[in-house]
Amino acid sequence: MTEMTLIAASGTALPPVRVNRHLIGGAWRDSAEQSERVSPSHGVVVSRSALGTEVEARAAIAAARAAFDDGRWSGLPARARAAVLLKVADLIEANVEPFALIETLESGKPITQSRGEVGGAADLWRHAAALARTIEGDSFNGLGADILATVLKEPVGVVSIITPWNFPFWILSQKLPFALAAGCTCVVKPSEMTPSTTAMLGALLAEAGMPAGVVNIVLGYGDPVGNVMTADPGVDMVSFTGSTAVGRLIGRGASDTLKKVALELGGKNPQVIFPDADLDSAADAVVFGVYFNVGQCCNSGSRIILHEDIAADFIARITDLSRHVTFGDPLDPQTQVGAIVTPEHGARIDGYVQAAAAAGAQVVLGGGPLVVPGLGAQFYRPTIVTGVTPDMAIAREEVFGPVLTVLTFRTLDEALALCNDSDYGLSAGVWSENVHTCLAFARGVQAGTVWTNTWMDGFPEVTFGGMKQSGQGREVGRYGLEEFLEIKSVVMRIGRTRANWVKTR
Ligand code: NAD
Repeated sequence: MTEMTLIAASGTALPPVRVNRHLIGGAWRDSAEQSERVSPSHGVVVSRSALGTEVEARAAIAAARAAFDDGRWSGLPARARAAVLLKVADLIEANVEPFALIETLESGKPITQSRGEVGGAADLWRHAAALARTIEGDSFNGLGADILATVLKEPVGVVSIITPWNFPFWILSQKLPFALAAGCTCVVKPSEMTPSTTAMLGALLAEAGMPAGVVNIVLGYGDPVGNVMTADPGVDMVSFTGSTAVGRLIGRGASDTLKKVALELGGKNPQVIFPDADLDSAADAVVFGVYFNVGQCCNSGSRIILHEDIAADFIARITDLSRHVTFGDPLDPQTQVGAIVTPEHGARIDGYVQAAAAAGAQVVLGGGPLVVPGLGAQFYRPTIVTGVTPDMAIAREEVFGPVLTVLTFRTLDEALALCNDSDYGLSAGVWSENVHTCLAFARGVQAGTVWTNTWMDGFPEVTFGGMKQSGQGREVGRYGLEEFLEIKSVVMRIGRTRANWVKTR
């Protein structure tokens, strides 16, 4: 058996270069300069986008501020906001194909995956629409005969939404419909590498009846656009998904105005496999967890922790399975794993693997870039590294590539100690047929999401987010909606039974 299964260039014709502009106060605006996105898989320009400056960022914030303050969106009954969100969901479903195509060309991810992400995002919009109608507070009727108090939930206000390149449309849909359901207005900045589907959504929002100025889109780099969106006093909250390093900058940038910050950051997610697990299912999930999105995934199951008794057998299983995963042309529907986002990122991935090998780890599969026949060389081999020690960078840092590191353990306590010996706390998994083992693991591990006998299953209803340096705040589901709500207590005295404080006689 060869080392891997390659899918050569399919020869699919590429669409014309897409042109993107900003959406500010309901009008499409260009900039003096443009940026170009070269497809990671095909090596040609696939989109050209207006390159935003501080001017466009401030204009978008002013438009969102005006739209919030005059109540054109927050003042609507929740059922009217929900109706618009439901229309957006329908429009997304009707436009899966063009959205998926440009998502694949800009990000390098397989076309079948892009179709799944774009189509699946419609469900996030529907769930947010349902939640819009459930916003409720508390009432206190037992404080005394002359007192009634209530706690109201109100929209936070103007929200800056800043998104990464690895799941551009999906992550946008984890944030925007929930902010809109709450009644907020928004300024959105997609990654400079994957701007198109966010800009395309702007057109669908208008078609669905979203009032102008409620959602504003500014294209461009973190500096200056993201910086302004973080620090400007006209913004009430920043909702950010991206790297932990930029997350720290966001925290600092927002601190002068003490605005609310929600952060979804990186992960170094462990899966622990016990000898009594269904090893076939575990092996399949491990291989999926590490190669999905070429490992460029916050939830990448990039470190597995194997019980010593099954380690050799399990490594043999996943090595064999890895050889059957299809790597290659993302436009071919047979492809499961596509291209690396930039050449620089490919070199960074390789740097981790070479450093681990130099420090004594064994690269038992892959290691090194990959040339796909008929396409460029911006691909990376499925890679498994054993003999890793917990102090190695490859075991601690986010490699963000198709690279699996393997550690071993003997007892549950040892496994938990290895899992928790990390700055990150995004997700973790356990494989065992013993419910007690699974529950003990779930209670002991420091992670925002724990999967038992599965990996990366997610639902709009089930909230998501990270502990430790993987983030703060939560997304999707009821808790995701609550992030975009402010709490106000209203205390009402009924009648005039209270004695005056000032004694006039
Ligand atoms: P990144 O941090 O480089 O960029 C994310 C966004 O921030 C981009 O839009 C970028 O332009 C913008 N940005 C950059 N500098 C900025 C600044 N100074 N101020 C404001 N905005 C700025 O991340 P990336 O490389 O696009 O995405 C990969 C990272 O995202 C990984 O670390 C991954 O784990 C993380 N991620 C986390 C989740 C999650 O839900 N926890 C999901 C997906 C990705």
